[in-house]
Amino acid sequence: MRDALLDLFLGASCVGCGLPGRTLCPRCSHDLPTRPQHVRAVMPSPSPPGLAPALTAAEYADPLRRMILRHKEERAFGLAAPLGRVLAAAVRVVLEPLPPGVVALLVPVPSRPAVVRERGHDPTARIVRAATRLLRHEGHPVAMSRLLRQRRRLADQAGLDAEDRAANLRDALAVRPEVLRRLARSRVPVVAVVCDDVITTGATAREAQRALSDSGVPVGAIAVVAATRLRRPPG
Ligand SMILES: [Zn+2]
Repeated sequence: MRDALLDLFLGASCVGCGLPGRTLCPRCSHDLPTRPQHVRAVMPSPSPPGLAPALTAAEYADPLRRMILRHKEERAFGLAAPLGRVLAAAVRVVLEPLPPGVVALLVPVPSRPAVVRERGHDPTARIVRAATRLLRHEGHPVAMSRLLRQRRRLADQAGLDAEDRAANLRDALAVRPEVLRRLARSRVPVVAVVCDDVITTGATAREAQRALSDSGVPVGAIAVVAATRLRRPPG
């Protein structure tokens, strides 16, 4: 009864365990995969040719799946920071061999403009911003850059197989020239890390990588909050 009343008044319950009061309770927040040992290479099968090393700390399964959806679709902005912590775990592993003086540019894969309009926010950019803030606070040389934009209308990727996704995505993304010029003027050596919420076939990440590489921006890796398929250690 008390819980039901709390739920009614606060209008929120933990996305992980259902505990009323907060969108993510401290216990579920603590249990998120944010440590280096959680980070795995992602291996879409088949993998798009030339895909940069892709890393994630989490499998696309509950409660993380629910967190991603609630953040994206119900604008539960309080989940951006915990999702950013999960993303940051993968980015930290990418940063380990970074040469001195080089800045890692975290580049969010842009959401479809229709999605941004409909939901009133770009969920991936919001998560990447949270991860960037955390990593900078820890002293890592990272910056977020919204270098990419959608060049044309895309069909919804959901329900398409790997081949159709690749065709749907061909030349779909482009670099924003004004952001690229600003980057060139800064003369800071950078390596881009393509960031997304979920990786499935790798087609979107590969297209982001292509758009950046074609504009002369080196891509070091792909980091995602969660992956639908993970490469398991042998045995
Ligand atoms: Zn909980």
